[in-house]
Amino acid sequence: MSMLLVEDLSVWFGGGRDRVDAVRRASFSVERGASFGLVGESGSGKSTILRAIMGLAPNWSGAMSVEDHSIQKKRDKAFYKTVQMVFQDPYASLHPRHSVDQVLGETLHLHGFKDIDARVVKLLDDVGLGGKFRFRYPHQLSGGQRQRVAIARALAPEPSILLLDEPTSALDVSVQAEILNLLTDLRAAQNLTYVMVSHDLSVVGHMCEHLAVMKAGEVVEIMGVETLRNAQAQHSYSRELLAASI
Ligand code: ADP
Ligand code: MG
Repeated sequence: MSMLLVEDLSVWFGGGRDRVDAVRRASFSVERGASFGLVGESGSGKSTILRAIMGLAPNWSGAMSVEDHSIQKKRDKAFYKTVQMVFQDPYASLHPRHSVDQVLGETLHLHGFKDIDARVVKLLDDVGLGGKFRFRYPHQLSGGQRQRVAIARALAPEPSILLLDEPTSALDVSVQAEILNLLTDLRAAQNLTYVMVSHDLSVVGHMCEHLAVMKAGEVVEIMGVETLRNAQAQHSYSRELLAASI
């Protein structure tokens, strides 16, 4: 049984002449505890796949399931307890007038937890921030610290799957590795399953065991990361992508 199964997923925006077919018949599966990468040039549909899984893209066809439970058009609370997403830009994803305590506390409350104080402190410890950040506001945090708060918020419902949309690409190069290491440690400690979008093949090579290469809305190849490292991709587009990144 796979943790996440995506079969023949198509996603579109708009209609008639304005219709954009952002994803066409994409299929992949991710085992429990695995980290699966989605790579491809800008506009190839990577974020749209994550948004469709998350219920943020209403027009889709195909089938998606989490632990053999088919994802319905209307997702229930249980779904968001299992699947959470971290967005690319922590500046945009945190409300400027909400303190870290409010962000985490409200999320915990929403998911029905009672021991909120203890959980806020634990979440801040888990993401390497600690209690001294609890009453700060986003403008009092660095980009890396903000992304740690966004990761803590995603972890609050104790999910099994994290969808990571270029989680380090808005950050300074010097902090990117810190966040990637944190994500690696969290996956091991909490047995998380990742789907990670990146336009950076070295990030995916470092973070994932398998990856799908996307082009113009389609998955053109799925490969093990050793194929990426050995630059043995079958599809000519994957080879071009590899050549461009070396
Ligand atoms: P990637 O994450 O690989 O850069 P996206 O998934 O963001 O690509 O976008 C895939 C395609 O869908 C692009 O052509 C993009 O312009 C289009 N698209 C994404 N979101 C929307 C939207 N809300 N409305 C219309 N078109 C969109
Ligand atoms: Mg994107």
